[in-house]
Amino acid sequence: MVDNAVVAGRVGLIGFPFDRNSSFMRGAAQAPPAIRAALHSESSNLWSEEGVDLGRPGMIEDFGDLEPFIPDPERAIEEAVEDLLRRGVAPICLGGDHSVTYPIVRACGRRFPELTVLHFDAHSDTYDLYQANRLSHACPFARIMEEGAAARLIQVGLRTMTEEHRAQIRRFGIEVVEMRDWPASLAFDLGGPVYVSIDLDVLDPAFAPGVAHPEPGGCSTRQLLEAVRRLAAPVIGVDLVEFNPLRDGQGTTAMVCAKIVKETAATILRNGRQARSRDS
Ligand code: MN
Ligand code: MN
Repeated sequence: MVDNAVVAGRVGLIGFPFDRNSSFMRGAAQAPPAIRAALHSESSNLWSEEGVDLGRPGMIEDFGDLEPFIPDPERAIEEAVEDLLRRGVAPICLGGDHSVTYPIVRACGRRFPELTVLHFDAHSDTYDLYQANRLSHACPFARIMEEGAAARLIQVGLRTMTEEHRAQIRRFGIEVVEMRDWPASLAFDLGGPVYVSIDLDVLDPAFAPGVAHPEPGGCSTRQLLEAVRRLAAPVIGVDLVEFNPLRDGQGTTAMVCAKIVKETAATILRNGRQARSRDS
C-alpha cells in the first residue's frame, strides 16, 4: 500500500528563504528567486534528460516562498510541508540554509514513519550544539535522529568529519558513504519512501562555487545527478539548500540548482508512476 502523497504524481516548488541559522555567512535566504530565475531562463529548457517536458502546465506547481521575516520559521516550514503532503504534492524545497531540513523532515516523518533520508553534503551536520545554537545549520541531522523523525539516514559525500561527527554517526547508526569512497556506480537499494536532502557544497567548488562553505575534493554535477536518477524508491520530497547567490559570480551554481530541480522532479514523477502501476 502506497501513500497518496507518493502516488498522486504531483511535484511542488516551495521556497524557504531563511539563513539566520548559518554559522559563517548569510546569503542563502536569497536563493529561491535566483533558482527560479535560472529554472525559467531562456538559456535552457524544461525538458528532463529522460524526455519529460516539465514546462507543461501542472508538471511542477509553484507554491511560492514563505515570508522571510516571520517570527517562527521552523513551525511555518513544518506546517507548509505538512499541508503539501496532505494534498498529495511531493515538495521540492528551496533553501535557505540547511537548518530548514529539520522541520521539513519532521513533517515528512510524521506522514511516512518508514522514511529514509538520503543526505548529500560535504558535512555531516550532526553537531549536538554549534555556536550555542541547537538549530544551527551544523545540527539538523542530530535533531532529526534524536527524535526519530527518520527511520534511516544515509549521508553521502562527507569529507570534513571531526571526532564528534564520528561519535554522533555511531550513536545514531547513520550510514555513510564518504566522498573518498564514492563508487563509480553509486546506487541505493531502498524499499520505502525516501526524502533527498541536497546541500550544494557536496559538489566540488569547481562545479558549484556559490556556497558559504566550499570544500574542495567534492563530487561532480554528473555524479550527483546519476545518484538521484538511479533511485527506484518513491521520492516524497527533496530539498536544495546552502546555495548562496552572493558567492555565485557567473550564475554557475544557480544553473546547477535549476538542473537538480528538473532531474529530481523527473525522478519523483517517474518513481511515483511506477509505484502507482505496481499498486493497481
Ligand atoms: Mn549541510
Ligand atoms: Mn555542507
